[in-house]
Amino acid sequence: LLMLGIETSCDDTAAAVVRGDGVILSQVVSSQEDLLVKWGGVAPKMAEEAHALAIDQVVQRALDDANVSESDLCAVAVTVGPGLSLCLRVGVHKARKIAKTFRLPIVGVHHMEAHALVSRLVNKDLDFPFLALLISGGHNLLVLAHELGKYVQLGTTIDDAIGEAYDKSARWLGLDMRKGGGPALEQLALEGDPNAVKFRVPMRQHKDCNFSYAGLKTQVRLAIESRNISTDDIPISSATEEDRQQRANIAASFQRVAVLHLEERCQRAVEWALKMKPSIKHFVVSGGVASNQYVRTHLNHIAEKNGLQLVCPPPSLCTDNGVMIAWTGIEHFIAGRFVDPPAVDEPDDMQHDLRPRWPLGEEYSEGRSVAR
Ligand code: ATP
Ligand code: FE
Repeated sequence: LLMLGIETSCDDTAAAVVRGDGVILSQVVSSQEDLLVKWGGVAPKMAEEAHALAIDQVVQRALDDANVSESDLCAVAVTVGPGLSLCLRVGVHKARKIAKTFRLPIVGVHHMEAHALVSRLVNKDLDFPFLALLISGGHNLLVLAHELGKYVQLGTTIDDAIGEAYDKSARWLGLDMRKGGGPALEQLALEGDPNAVKFRVPMRQHKDCNFSYAGLKTQVRLAIESRNISTDDIPISSATEEDRQQRANIAASFQRVAVLHLEERCQRAVEWALKMKPSIKHFVVSGGVASNQYVRTHLNHIAEKNGLQLVCPPPSLCTDNGVMIAWTGIEHFIAGRFVDPPAVDEPDDMQHDLRPRWPLGEEYSEGRSVAR
């Protein structure tokens, strides 16, 4: 069983070929770093163009690196949501073209489910049910994964995701955004004192599992402004030693509180989850921010404290990638969840069930009463 996975939901154009037993045969990612630096975020139209330029090459390289051709595949898996519809369309269009030409079924994949399920490729002992924290640029989700395709959402962000807070803070601190704001801030924080700036931990008065990062983001901006660090025009590379230390202190203090917020919500979620499903053994942490070492270490403490095993994919599988799409495609394909190849006379540009806003599972509402 060979699956091609295609991912274009945000700013990375990615493809991979994965075998049914979880062996990764190829993995190709083309990032829009220059665009991100220039536009300060993902501009949908620009991102769409970049995907359209890259997609053919990325898919071809994934096939070449795996040493397979389209006719060896059993199906094509592609992200259909959530994400920017202009961007999703590029991947889906490509998947449909291949599926039509080579008569292959298509598996439409949920991007966040893929972030969660790739941990099952990494750790073969990871069975349902399990608890998952998915942290990235656009999402901050705590879900109880009951079975394939069945998730209950214990918590989500009421405003920004943690990745957005890392990215904005990094930009305001004048960091080099080429490799993404998150990694740059993590690096700088190593030089700083995490207790130097007193940031407030969000949402302590709310005894639930939701998150909020907009307020912390604002606190970072105010801390920068009140210290008169002119980060807009002076990048960290040309800052004075004293200025650099101040920025490092803000970075470290931000990271401490951002992750403390994660820890507090996860501790509660573990309690909720174990009440509902005492058989849970694993705590999965995935999504771009899960590639952060400080985040991993602190969430490992939470897992250990509660007798759970932390499963955190390697960084290249935490950030957006094609492997997670191919793997989730395999899981669904084996379960018989796929659609037949498009008819030969169907136009290529027909929209295939794009789901730009697609919640992962149902919301858990009794949670609040359980906690009280
Ligand atoms: P989503 O999955 O919500 O659609 P996305 O697809 O943009 O968002 P991912 O690639 O899953 O995102 O994650 C990207 C995010 O992860 C960015 O906000 C980035 O700054 C953050 N990130 C990546 N590496 C690190 C790190 N080492 N520390 C903190 N944040 C990081
Ligand atoms: Fe993602």
